[in-house]
Amino acid sequence: MKYLINMVVILWIGIFPGLAQVSYPDNEDGQYEDMLTPQYYHALEGDTFRLEVNKFVHYSRLIPFQHPLSDSLGNVASYSLGRGFGEGLGPGGTSSHHPAFDYYLGNSSTFVNMYAVCDGVVNIDRTVSRYRHYLSITAEVKDSTGSELGKVVVFYGHIDLDLDEADGIDLDGQFVKKGDLVSKHLYSGTMGGPHLHFEIRYYRKADSGLEDFYGGQTEDKTIPSAGPWSYGYWNNNSGYGFAHPLNHLNSEVSGIPTIEPVNKLKVYPYPNPTKENINIRFKDAGGIKVFTITNATGRQILQRKYENEEFVKLDISVFSKGIYFLNISGNGQNCIYKIVKE
Ligand SMILES: [Zn+2]
Repeated sequence: MKYLINMVVILWIGIFPGLAQVSYPDNEDGQYEDMLTPQYYHALEGDTFRLEVNKFVHYSRLIPFQHPLSDSLGNVASYSLGRGFGEGLGPGGTSSHHPAFDYYLGNSSTFVNMYAVCDGVVNIDRTVSRYRHYLSITAEVKDSTGSELGKVVVFYGHIDLDLDEADGIDLDGQFVKKGDLVSKHLYSGTMGGPHLHFEIRYYRKADSGLEDFYGGQTEDKTIPSAGPWSYGYWNNNSGYGFAHPLNHLNSEVSGIPTIEPVNKLKVYPYPNPTKENINIRFKDAGGIKVFTITNATGRQILQRKYENEEFVKLDISVFSKGIYFLNISGNGQNCIYKIVKE
């Protein structure tokens, strides 16, 4: 066992110097795989289109997000997850799919507080039957130089805009901040009971002619595409797709890029910045994972080793404020993250 740990240590020291080259996470082998176009999945490694999409997704994930059911104190209302992300679908799949999470909560109550998951501009719509009513928030995606790459649009489906308006909530066209209350009512007549259908879409600037896909202003926007995934709102030749919510909700990265852009572990420690704890959730609980935190001068401050843990919480409340580097090593991979202690 000790031999194995030594191997891991040597491995990550060996990898550490190779940080200079910028590439972006590949979404095909993601921990939480996004749904992108078949064109994306058929593109070769290094293909320009694929690199562009990877870059877009990388910067999309740097937008600070919170949970749609989290209040200002960080308390997330308890829910059960109905249909999960991507059910019935993969690249090349043809059966009906679900590019979203369904949150059931409140024992079929329609009174549910929902909050802005990110800063952005609100649109509301009552005309797209598959959502009944929805509210969307559009956030700009920019690269590190500030140039626009596209938009991330989050959808709150199956809400009741009429009841919201009766309560004085009418946010159409307005800019909201992460954490603002955006709706208080789920629709009572949704099949399977009231639930929030929460969806995240990616739109690249290169596909800007298709931006009003999510506006629902004309009928053809609800007709399934002829592409192999055949679920509508889709252009087989464009680079937009759907994000796995956990890729965003799991990563309160607050605009601080990881040191190593290639996050092979597909793990996003959160919250960051943090005052007390760093949480790390793995898809695969198996194997040994080693966590090391060093300060800005390179001095090691904390080391922990866990075996077969799916979720790890590191208490750094006693650390002084500043920048730290978290090394996570496991499953033959090593990743380094910049952590800000507040
Ligand atoms: Zn749904």
